[in-house]
Amino acid sequence: MSFENLGINANILNAIKATGFESPTPVQQATIPKAILKQDLVVSAQTGSGKTAAFMLPILQHLSEKKAQNTSIQVLVLTPTRELAMQITKAASVYGSNLPWLRVATIVGGMPYKAQIKALSKRIDILVATPGRLIDQMQSGRVNLKNVHTLVLDEADRMLDMGFIDDIQTIVAELPQEKQTMLFSATIDNSIMNLAKQMMNNPERISLNNNKQSHNNIEQKLIYVDDYKHKIKILQHLLSKENLDQAIVFTSTKRGADDLSNHLSDNGFAVAALHGDMNQRQRTKTLSQLQKKQLQILIATDVAARGIDIQGISHAINFDLPMQAEDYVHRIGRTGRAGRNGEALTLATHAEKHKIRKIENYIGKNINIEVIVGLEPVNTFKKNTKENKPRNYGYKFDSNKKTRTYNNKIAKPLFNDKSREERPSYSKNNDNKKRSSINFIKKTSTSSKVIRNKGFAPYREHSNNI
Ligand code: AMP
Repeated sequence: MSFENLGINANILNAIKATGFESPTPVQQATIPKAILKQDLVVSAQTGSGKTAAFMLPILQHLSEKKAQNTSIQVLVLTPTRELAMQITKAASVYGSNLPWLRVATIVGGMPYKAQIKALSKRIDILVATPGRLIDQMQSGRVNLKNVHTLVLDEADRMLDMGFIDDIQTIVAELPQEKQTMLFSATIDNSIMNLAKQMMNNPERISLNNNKQSHNNIEQKLIYVDDYKHKIKILQHLLSKENLDQAIVFTSTKRGADDLSNHLSDNGFAVAALHGDMNQRQRTKTLSQLQKKQLQILIATDVAARGIDIQGISHAINFDLPMQAEDYVHRIGRTGRAGRNGEALTLATHAEKHKIRKIENYIGKNINIEVIVGLEPVNTFKKNTKENKPRNYGYKFDSNKKTRTYNNKIAKPLFNDKSREERPSYSKNNDNKKRSSINFIKKTSTSSKVIRNKGFAPYREHSNNI
């Protein structure tokens, strides 16, 4: 099928051709003809599949037909993150480059209000927004949504994960009843379907992927590690591989991202962190450096990396495991963009095997285990059989309070005061922040050794949860 067969006008077609797109991707083939007929749609399509053009091209087509009306705001696109909003805005401008009247505005958190207020004072055809800041602007009476005829909920699963459900409902309540709604989501579960039922009119379901078939162009590997120190060594080895063009490395915390970035930078890598504590200017600068290949490695948290679309990213590396199995799918989707091949490497300790199993169940296949010669793990997983049961000598360990009890009484700590001082503190005081990541690694591994020698199951999962 070609773009010409999809019912799109010549102006838009020429702009698409100029971007180098030769034929529509499967999600575009399935979605565009139905979207042009103004049907409500629930589309499950993974990130990187070309879904932005799948909703943007029909929107531009409708706007081209309606432009004489000169009404503001006609289309609202809601997205979970600033980065994604920026990308959608850019895509709208590129695909609409032959539509000189087209006005696209972005309303996202973390950006100065002034420019957004100015943009809102003019006519807008397409408004791309994150829910929180849009509500702010609505409350100050600057946004009129009464003329919206098309609503897009992009990455709806992530918006729900991020707790935007109430905001979405507040926004949708301000829109006209009569409108077209298109919902895109990498995963479609009951909560998404409930949302769809509440706000859509008999939506057609378009399902191009399920978790089990997706990402065939991405080679997935699992590498077992002993501890943080071993994990760092393996990471450095992987990042030095010749076939690595650019990589995104995922950590579970912002602090972990900064620590790892500092450590790799000290070791000569062109690296930067990207997380929610950075302001928008820093984030945009980092992403632009990555795009221009001034950076080779990005250390990112899940939310910050959402929607990043950089074709040079050959490797996605899970330094920390994702909190939820579906995040694994989002993470590895940062590589293998636009049909290229990619590698997704996951580092895990044997104690995290249950999390790996959850991921494997979710994606419907086992991830191949790779062992790096010279960096093989020493620890192996021991089943919790009667013989192997951790010896705790009648003590019970409360992993939340980090206390031991014996006959229901709090037992003496395992550490004398001196060694306790050397353990990583779980408080977020300033002293802690000043510690270098390297010191931290040494201290953590010392403390875990002490615990193991006393016969307890190891309870720490490394410094980066702090
Ligand atoms: P998306 O899923 O919308 O984030 O798109 C992922 C990437 O695919 C972006 O870099 C798009 O520019 C690219 N893309 C979208 N549609 C096509 C197409 N028909 N042919 C080739 N690349 C495309």
